[in-house]
Amino acid sequence: MSEPIIIDGVAISQQVLESLQPRIQKLKSRGILPGLAVVLVGDDPSSQSYVRMKTKTFAKYELFSETFYLPENSDLDSVLKIVKDLNSRPEFNGILVQLPLPTHLDEMQVILAIDPDKDADGIHPLNLGKMVLGVKGPLPCTPHGILMLLKYSNINPKGKHVVVIGRSNIVGKPIANLLMQKCELGDATVTVCHSRTQNLAAIARQADILIAALGKPEFIDHTFVKEGAVVIDVGISRVEDSTTPKGYRLVGDVNFDDVRDLVSAITPVPGGVGPMTRAMLVANTLYLAENSV
Ligand code: NAD
Repeated sequence: MSEPIIIDGVAISQQVLESLQPRIQKLKSRGILPGLAVVLVGDDPSSQSYVRMKTKTFAKYELFSETFYLPENSDLDSVLKIVKDLNSRPEFNGILVQLPLPTHLDEMQVILAIDPDKDADGIHPLNLGKMVLGVKGPLPCTPHGILMLLKYSNINPKGKHVVVIGRSNIVGKPIANLLMQKCELGDATVTVCHSRTQNLAAIARQADILIAALGKPEFIDHTFVKEGAVVIDVGISRVEDSTTPKGYRLVGDVNFDDVRDLVSAITPVPGGVGPMTRAMLVANTLYLAENSV
């Protein structure tokens, strides 16, 4: 095999963000500063770091964002109260509740409380319903980011067999659905695998495009990958590493070194899907701002 293309999510996310500039300027010229409210419940270090990176992206592109911190032991009522309060504040076009929430909180109740017209993550059932029906609306950020990665890398999913490993509401289900839609970045034949799938490796080996979103560090090795496949690694896990200053490093769901000689293209972790998720959060906030007036 020739050298694989390492899909550079940092560079592509910058291209996407630059392409949004005219829309940002147009809104600003009308006196609208697109604003995002982020709600972070608890002190999970990964969630804290994702929120920091998201708000940093907003600051870099001179957009407004504010994070609302709630303690780990917050009850459902206090989380719902802040979401409802943010729904009514006009300076916020988008609201993002960082998931996962602490396990004692009913995540769906919180998602349902977000005004669908301010749903920056595109995960309110109304917006997911629109997505399934092919009606315009804010798309879930990570799946949307994956579509953009493919587009900017000139990888056309049309007619390809895509295998998605993972069926979560925020990644697996929506990316599988988007890729099977009859549209420019769709038209793929999609297989969805999950924790109860039998013969996972054999199914994954049939993929022209393999999307790993299972949350198991470096689980996908060469036995899961067909020669020449495109591999999109959504997973992000912290694994202990005493040789690094922080004592850990970030890895994906794919064992990068084990598969790199087999694939035609692959996303690294970090620097693959993650930056795209942040870029699409900006895109959604703009979309919501444009549609709020
Ligand atoms: P999740 O835990 O909600 O879902 C994991 C899915 O994987 C489940 O549907 C489960 O059925 C499946 N699964 C688990 N073990 C499996 C196995 N052994 N074989 C086959 N399927 C298995 O996770 P999620 O929220 O979809 O996130 C998945 C990963 O992606 C995590 O590492 C998460 O941190 C990462 N993530 C990254 C971004 C990003 O921006 N890069 C965004 C969201 C999530």
